[in-house]
Amino acid sequence: MAQRDRRLKPNILVTGTPGTGKTSTCSLLADATGLTHLNVGDLVKLKSLHDGWDDELECFILNEDLLIDEMEDMVKGGGTIVDYHSCDIFPERWFDAIVVLQTDNGVLYERLTNRGYTGAKLQNNMECEIFQVLLEEARESYPQELVRALPSNTIEDMSNNVEILSDWVSAWSPPAAN
Ligand code: ADP
Ligand code: MN
Repeated sequence: MAQRDRRLKPNILVTGTPGTGKTSTCSLLADATGLTHLNVGDLVKLKSLHDGWDDELECFILNEDLLIDEMEDMVKGGGTIVDYHSCDIFPERWFDAIVVLQTDNGVLYERLTNRGYTGAKLQNNMECEIFQVLLEEARESYPQELVRALPSNTIEDMSNNVEILSDWVSAWSPPAAN
């Protein structure tokens, strides 16, 4: 296995189906820890790291190479919380923890319809959650012991998650060099 990057502060990847609470959770976690919240979807739009708009899926067609190049310097020093609805596109060595947020179907359905999702986009995202696509993807892409699934149904869940993760950040120290 390639050697993991050396850094003084941890990088955390927060992933999950759209609507599971990534952005809200990352924002609170950044406030609690002083780490930097990087919303990848916003970065892709801002820096046009895409090859146009997909009319069918109603999203930008990500240019992975541009994105990885853009992010490399941002994550290099550690201390970044990466917020994205996919996780197998990033180099494994970037992250010290991978968090997969999960939401019950009924709750997620309501959040996505409130956000204006309908038709295929709504259905694709519901199926993504029902089949635990992100958890599978995370388990296939990162060391098992770094991956953790957390429920994100209620505000109480969110506070618990922020507390668990900020405690983890406080206790984190760089792996010993070997
Ligand atoms: P994501 O970034 O994963 O798409 P957001 O953080 O934008 O999700 O959350 C989507 C919506 O659901 C927002 O209105 C947010 O306030 C709400 N929400 C997210 N997580 C929770 C939670 N654990 N409890 C209650 N509401 C939540
Ligand atoms: Mn978001």
